[in-house]
Amino acid sequence: MTKETGKLYVVATPIGNLADITFRAVETLKSVNLIAAEDTRHVKMLLQHYGISNKVIALHQHNEDKAAVEIVEKLRSGLSIALVSDAGTPLISDPGMPVVKAVHEANLTVVPIVGACALIAGLSAAGVAITPFTFEGFVPRTSSARKTFFSERAAISTTWVFYESCHRILDCLHDMAAVLPAERSIVIARELTKLHETIVKLPLAEMLVLVETDANMQRGEFVVIVEGAEKIDVSENVITADQERILKLLLTECSVKKAVDLTVEITGGKKKPIYQAALTFNNR
Ligand code: SAM
Repeated sequence: MTKETGKLYVVATPIGNLADITFRAVETLKSVNLIAAEDTRHVKMLLQHYGISNKVIALHQHNEDKAAVEIVEKLRSGLSIALVSDAGTPLISDPGMPVVKAVHEANLTVVPIVGACALIAGLSAAGVAITPFTFEGFVPRTSSARKTFFSERAAISTTWVFYESCHRILDCLHDMAAVLPAERSIVIARELTKLHETIVKLPLAEMLVLVETDANMQRGEFVVIVEGAEKIDVSENVITADQERILKLLLTECSVKKAVDLTVEITGGKKKPIYQAALTFNNR
């Protein structure tokens, strides 16, 4: 008789409010042979809250490849394992990918136990067009890399979403304002499911003022949602050779915003096509 193999359960846990966990997730965490967790101390608080006393092993970024081999061996020996991260859905800007990949490669079964995910919670309450959307994870940490990152996405006409930390949210908005139009709609979904949950939708320039002037808007955890660029009629999207020459010259010396403003002022042209052209030239 062949021995039965175990299954890997990828279990979503709360993103703040401890009540945001499914019955199935609690049952799974109780019934598996062991729990592989990003931070063993962190998950123990959750387990304690739900009266779960189960064996927990560490699975963090630095031991993932080794842990993946061990987890596959354990599954083969018939043990079932739950994979959890510190908050929300594992693998979403969290550890777990090498493990899930290795389990697939070993032809073993992966079962998702669904639940909280900050980006999905944010999108569900944002009131912006969602289909399709792009999830960018965490954006770059340095200002110049962030500006490049934002300018590469400035002309995308669909919604994009990213995670940001409280230490960088203000600088991040400043960099966004340097390359995106002031009127672009931004949603900040902050402290979701927690006491100070805040969901605000504002044009970029107003969002920057709000976050700059309200210290509470620089605290906690953030999902940032950026509405896509307005689609422009191609016939309107043409700039003259003169505008192009001036714009290109100014782009070698100034920010996109400044170069566009000056080109509009010098040539009397329409801002939208000049801005659109600036993004294209800047990304070449
Ligand atoms: N796996 C998680 C998920 O499913 O959303 C994300 C983990 S990632 C390491 C943590 C980041 O997610 C935070 O820095 C923040 O940007 C976002 N995040 C997590 N919980 C949040 C919450 N309650 N409100 C807003 N953003 C949150």
